[in-house]
Amino acid sequence: MSNTAEIFESMEYGPAPEESAFVRDWLKEKSDGFQHYINGAFTSGGDGQKTIESRNPADGEILARFSAAGEAEVDAAVSAAKSAFPKWAKLSGHERAKYLYALARLVQKNARFLSVLETLDNGKPIRETRDIDIPLVARHFYHHAGWAQLQETEFSDYEPLGPVGQIIPWNFPLLMLAWKIAPAIALGNTVVLKPAEYTSLTALYFAELCKEAKIPSGVVNIVTGAGETGELIVKHPDIAKIAFTGSTEVGRIIRRQTAGSGKKLSLELGGKSPFIIFEDADLDGAVEGLVDAIWFNQGEVCCAGSRLLVEESVADKVTEKIKRRLSSFRIGDPLDKAVDMGAIVDPVQRDRIQSLVAQGEKEGGDVWRPDIEIPQVGCFYPPTLISNVSPSNVAVREEIFGPVLTSMTFRTLKEAVDLANNTRYGLAATIWSENINRALEAASAVKAGVVWINTTNGFDAACGFGGYRESGFGREGGREGVFEYLKLQKEWGGEEKPAPAPEISGEPDTGDPDGGLDQTPKQFIGGKQKRPDWGRTMPVAAHNGSYAGRVSYGNRKDIRDAVEAAFKAQGWGATTGHARAQILYFIAENFSKRADEFAKRLQQITGVSKSKARKEVQASISRLFAYGAWADKYDGLAHSPPQRNVVLAMNEPVGVIGVVCPDASPLLSFVSMWAPAVAMGNRVVVVPSERYPLLATDFYQILETSDVPGGVVNIVTGEHAALVKTLAEHDQVEAIWHHGSAEECQFVEKASADNLKRVWTNNGRSRDWSDARTGEGREFLRHACEVKNIWLPYGD
Ligand code: NDP
Repeated sequence: MSNTAEIFESMEYGPAPEESAFVRDWLKEKSDGFQHYINGAFTSGGDGQKTIESRNPADGEILARFSAAGEAEVDAAVSAAKSAFPKWAKLSGHERAKYLYALARLVQKNARFLSVLETLDNGKPIRETRDIDIPLVARHFYHHAGWAQLQETEFSDYEPLGPVGQIIPWNFPLLMLAWKIAPAIALGNTVVLKPAEYTSLTALYFAELCKEAKIPSGVVNIVTGAGETGELIVKHPDIAKIAFTGSTEVGRIIRRQTAGSGKKLSLELGGKSPFIIFEDADLDGAVEGLVDAIWFNQGEVCCAGSRLLVEESVADKVTEKIKRRLSSFRIGDPLDKAVDMGAIVDPVQRDRIQSLVAQGEKEGGDVWRPDIEIPQVGCFYPPTLISNVSPSNVAVREEIFGPVLTSMTFRTLKEAVDLANNTRYGLAATIWSENINRALEAASAVKAGVVWINTTNGFDAACGFGGYRESGFGREGGREGVFEYLKLQKEWGGEEKPAPAPEISGEPDTGDPDGGLDQTPKQFIGGKQKRPDWGRTMPVAAHNGSYAGRVSYGNRKDIRDAVEAAFKAQGWGATTGHARAQILYFIAENFSKRADEFAKRLQQITGVSKSKARKEVQASISRLFAYGAWADKYDGLAHSPPQRNVVLAMNEPVGVIGVVCPDASPLLSFVSMWAPAVAMGNRVVVVPSERYPLLATDFYQILETSDVPGGVVNIVTGEHAALVKTLAEHDQVEAIWHHGSAEECQFVEKASADNLKRVWTNNGRSRDWSDARTGEGREFLRHACEVKNIWLPYGD
């Protein structure tokens, strides 16, 4: 006879399946095939479309068929979105808020249906769709109904973009739809969305809800299809923005395809997120968190905590706890309310997981799996732990996107952070420690867009989500996410025209407007004047074609040296805003002492009148003051998600920014482009106007005397084409701000795709640098920062 304790130990869960007949009835009604949702109506589109089958990953059953939208269908959807845009954008925020509110209510009223449908289509446990995915979908529409309501007062300088193309993956099908559609339509845009081919069904049901909510025709369009359909949306000329979530590989393709199109772009891509456990952590809590971090949603999560980094002293204990926990894991029918893990979305994905694990094992990893039952039918994969791995092991480097955890140890906080940052990605990180100071120190050092402390996988519509580095750019959720769907009104003028470069005539003079000794300027790198690598200089013409001087003729090597110097000056990012402000004021002070000299130089090389030249110098001094002012005022936010968390949205410097300046207002634009970046703690490599480089080289003498640490501002003169290419392709440059012609902008956007830099260009348009509304301020500061959301739970 067993005693009660033994009975509890040996007790099995009985099956607790969720009812699905009502969803299957709906699927039966659609047995002829689902249709696209275009201009408020379901339409089958034209002939010749490929048919796609949607299968239940848990048993391979065909659930539905639909067709892949081709050119005609995508065109119809974009044209519907384009026609609907003006009226929708003009609607008051309150009117739009009511529509979003109606959608939120409908999601709640249909929550059970949507949960079951999602589980059938994707294979994730009903526990997760019911308790996480669908409630968060409703929350997203509620929250963004609020932003619609507040738009006119909170974002009065901004306007919506137009028709937006949105492409989403299969891991959180309806949740990703909500993350995309809710902010877009709340702020007055219209959308064409393509769900993933494996998981289109909840999007199609959502289309029915849009009809029920009487969303005006054309505001939401949903077309089904595979990658080719996505590509048609990306390339469509009438699309104003692409919002994409998916693999880094496709993100890179989209970056290249949208280059030069003027389309705004946000990319939420892959990750290889660290899960750090310090020895003082509550180890049971940490292991529960870890289970959630990597085995939630079968590990098919972009922010999955897939790399365990555990302090050596507790590593054995933690491993034992993980193994014990996994040995009672239940894998099976996703509709069973008592399973821990469901099915992998498709055999293609399971094969990918299998092959990466096999490769990781071949490279020396020890693979461990619990001895638990795995269903023989359906697409299942067991929870897997790979230990004894080196940082170069493929399982540590690559996003596996499955229930696979790698485990490594560390001895010090620095080592933990170094290992955490030893990745191309930067989406999320989890830190577990009872010492809040230590946890916050690690959080500030980890390069990731989201950091969870003593919690994991916190998501909320009020909090920003998105990555650093190859995890993409842009944020979804929170106030920071709102800007992805807006643009500053009248930010751009007409075409940006390069200043004409007249033939140089006459004798070379000294290069000094007042006459005197020759002063051929050098490059300014690492706080020092350096001769150009190949020892060449180039002449610069004054406005009338007379000889104004010579500057260094830089090449690739000079740019590389400048990037190296900027990279090394990391300490600048850690200085206080107050310290940075003082240095900016000091630069302004020293600059003002030489105001007359700069005005003369401006007159000499651009031919402007004396009063205009003086005005530009004064505006430049004022701009430096403005960024001195902002340096300690562009704060982050504290978000309040519904759970017991406070979420700190911290503005962090991006890193090394390449800054390429235009010819227009050459002194003011030069100052306006590097000062905001420097104010926020970035280091810059500035390529000044090719036509008027002497202003920048005159300026470095001011930098030299203003306590600017070496490497914070680097200036390389020369021909833009060669310099910009090296900057855009350089892996240590994390963002590029480029003002130039349309062709140059296209080139920079394409060339920066390799390491997925954040690129900010003028798309060949001019800007009024003298207007503080468009030439200064928050728009610049936003581009100068990454927002890191740090989640901190409170209470015991
Ligand atoms: P993809 O990046 O291929 O798919 C994401 C979305 O983009 C889908 O809707 C897809 O269509 C569409 N798409 C594919 N190619 C193009 C293209 N050239 N232009 C426009 N849209 C395109 O991811 P996969 O589904 O193929 O998954 C592969 C790997 O990507 C996974 O193993 C995982 O590592 C990673 N991934 C990361 C995600 C994340 O959230 N970070 C999400 C999903 C995957 P369709 O699926 O219909 O073909």
